[in-house]
Amino acid sequence: MAKPDSWESILGVKKPACCNLRAACCSVSTPSVPVDEMLKLAAQGDETCRDFLSVFIPHRSHEDARAFYPEDPSHIDRVLSIVNNQRTRVKLEAQDVTFYHCRYLGEDRRCQVYEDRPTFCRDYPNSPMAILVKGCGYTDWVEACKQKLAQYGYAIENAD
Ligand code: SF4
Ligand code: SF4
Repeated sequence: MAKPDSWESILGVKKPACCNLRAACCSVSTPSVPVDEMLKLAAQGDETCRDFLSVFIPHRSHEDARAFYPEDPSHIDRVLSIVNNQRTRVKLEAQDVTFYHCRYLGEDRRCQVYEDRPTFCRDYPNSPMAILVKGCGYTDWVEACKQKLAQYGYAIENAD
């Protein structure tokens, strides 16, 4: 059942039961907080940042991130273009955007701890603001949420 404060519940848009397991979110994850800020918050005890850093390892460069997810290297540029867009609330310079991969992603692109994966993996994407890789199983859900939000006067920048 959806959590009462989840976007699924607030907007009344049901999430699909499962994704199609392309593992992009485990390969090139992009939080909206720069890595130094993330480390600072984690050191101050922020649980979300601590949990995230306990699982995710930063790619050394955007090139490394592209190489790690060859299924759609253009995803990296789409993310950079969106966060640079003046109309979005979260604005970061390209050099402040870090992509991460999960330490529990196996060579076969499957989660090695699937039954015990963290809550934020189970909840992903936890908001319609998530920038999904093309073909992600939650694309329709995010689009349906955006349409609902648009009805309320909130426009969310599209990924394309
Ligand atoms: S949530 Fe989307 S990106 Fe993540 S594994 Fe599922 S289909 Fe892939
Ligand atoms: S723990 Fe599993 S589901 Fe979560 S990011 Fe890592 S590989 Fe993906």
